[in-house]
Amino acid sequence: MRHINLPIFIPHLGCPNDCVFCNQRKISGTMCFNKSSVRNEIDSFLKTVDTENTEVQLAFFGGSFTGIDREDMLYLLGIAKEYIDKGLIGSVRLSTRPDYIDGEILDILETHGVKTVELGIQSMSDKVLSACKRGHNADTSRRACRMIKERGFELIGQMMTALPCSTAEDEYNTALELVSLGIDGARIYPTMVFSGTVLEEMYKQGSYLPPDLDALTERTAYVFSVFARMQIPVIRIGLQASDGLGDSDGIVAGCYEAAMGEMVISRYYMNRMLPLLNSMKDEIKGKDLIIHCAKGEISKIIGHKQTNKMKILNEYNVKNIKILEKDDIMLYNMVIDYN
Ligand code: SF4
Repeated sequence: MRHINLPIFIPHLGCPNDCVFCNQRKISGTMCFNKSSVRNEIDSFLKTVDTENTEVQLAFFGGSFTGIDREDMLYLLGIAKEYIDKGLIGSVRLSTRPDYIDGEILDILETHGVKTVELGIQSMSDKVLSACKRGHNADTSRRACRMIKERGFELIGQMMTALPCSTAEDEYNTALELVSLGIDGARIYPTMVFSGTVLEEMYKQGSYLPPDLDALTERTAYVFSVFARMQIPVIRIGLQASDGLGDSDGIVAGCYEAAMGEMVISRYYMNRMLPLLNSMKDEIKGKDLIIHCAKGEISKIIGHKQTNKMKILNEYNVKNIKILEKDDIMLYNMVIDYN
């Protein structure tokens, strides 16, 4: 069975918070939301999908779903439940904030076919959460994660890199803690400075300086290494190129790259290979280097615009590089050989 998300964007609805980095309407690419149009959106989407062979998950994204007006939330979940009961969709996933999770909300989600809760955790450092005016602390996130897992929902942890006051170590520790809290998957969002946000003012005043692309890639790859080591699926790295975002519209600073995910994973692979290549430097000179990897990983090892391949060729003076898939190699692992 194929899995597909049917995304319905709920931008900033009911969110009284103003996290410094957030301009939700820009991020979601949807400027307004009309709840009566949801059925049409679902119906049009389903016409394009082979529902017999596809597990469709209705995904309420873009805002803090469990914080919206309770009547609206029940209305939307009620529609979702109708489609689930008719067998047209399999389940619901939604994104929300840790402080909008409690026992009563989880009761409602459980009875309306919600399977997956994506939690916008962003950081597990109280210093960073406070600098971002996030409105809750890390303990709130710990409590929400535990409740979600105890109730048997799938938990996706969303976190950010390069937030104000955040260091690479803060981000690495956030990833470690998310793993220990039992997340089933992660999303990593490098911080962008959007126009109209408090972060834009901070940037203009000089109190926030975004890292350059290389540093941002390195920091995000450091976070990714935690999830890769623990075999936790990372379902997204970087914002999606939605309308009004792909052309950098609305981004004042920060390095938006449509290929951020690929760049980060390639950097992760390069960082894994470096110590090994250094230890073999004399032996591999002038030889053919053979890298065995898991299925589907060749292009990530070669690197975005062949950066990894060129670096190895230039810095290690190998004659040629062959990258081969092998069935028995686990995702993100490699075996390096030469002849
Ligand atoms: S809680 Fe979410 S939607 Fe609300 S301001 Fe913060 S990031 Fe934006």
